[in-house]
Amino acid sequence: MLKGKTALVTGSTSGIGLGIARALAASKADLIINGLGEADAIEKLRSELAEEFGVRVLYHGADMSRPAEITAMIEYGANALGSIDILVNNAGIQYTAPVEQFPADRWDAIIAINLSSNFHAIAAALPRMRERNWGRIINVASAHGLVASPAKSAYVAAKHGVVGLTKAVALETAQTGITCNAICPGWVLTPLVQKQIDDRAKNASIPVDKARQLMLAEKQPSGEFVTPEQLGQVAVFLCSEAASQIRGSSISVDGGWTAQ
Ligand code: NAD
Repeated sequence: MLKGKTALVTGSTSGIGLGIARALAASKADLIINGLGEADAIEKLRSELAEEFGVRVLYHGADMSRPAEITAMIEYGANALGSIDILVNNAGIQYTAPVEQFPADRWDAIIAINLSSNFHAIAAALPRMRERNWGRIINVASAHGLVASPAKSAYVAAKHGVVGLTKAVALETAQTGITCNAICPGWVLTPLVQKQIDDRAKNASIPVDKARQLMLAEKQPSGEFVTPEQLGQVAVFLCSEAASQIRGSSISVDGGWTAQ
């Protein structure tokens, strides 16, 4: 379905980004992957994706907190693969603390990586999409782009910002073949969430299994984690012709979290 298209997925060495990259590659898109990790492990991942799906896969190590590196990654991808047709802004980090104890440098890092990186990548990729009058911009926001939780001021602010940015870009591209939407996942069991489960188990002196159950029970009515594979399929759908009039939407995939 996506043969001849190229997709850049930020933060795709792990978790949700990797799930989305795999689903796009399974639909035959060529890929630029990005994210942190050991060089050897990343090269292994890159070559395995290329082999498994029979697509071209390149890696760029742009640090998503650095605008110049983001712009350079878009240039690199467009030059190496001929275009950037699909941009998935997924890289993200988390830090939890009450607002009056929230370290200013953690605030700045979360705003830079979870929000401003989306702006820089979109600004750099959009002119190339306009040239071809086709594009898909998919921002991985969160249930926290729609509702808040305590101790997550920076994350909630950044993800609400992503939802707003998504709407603004969707309006600016409304009369083109380019769409911009957000996906708002609930809990997905990735390293980012495992750390929160481990912290909770430690702080409450409870087993990790119990902490996991409590986190789900508190927020996610389904009682089940969303999977990276499910989110990958949502991203593939957003790239389809059927989704061409979905514009500026925030699609909740959250086990009912934000229905409450
Ligand atoms: P993860 O920790 O498994 O993956 C994060 C990815 O971002 C990794 O590839 C990491 O290397 C990359 N990354 C982090 N900092 C980076 C930087 N400075 N430069 C480049 N890459 C960087 O986390 P995840 O849970 O898969 O999260 C992916 C996205 O999904 C994030 O935006 C997160 O906020 C969002 N999200 C996650 C959940 C969840 O429950 N896991 C829920 C809603 C939204």
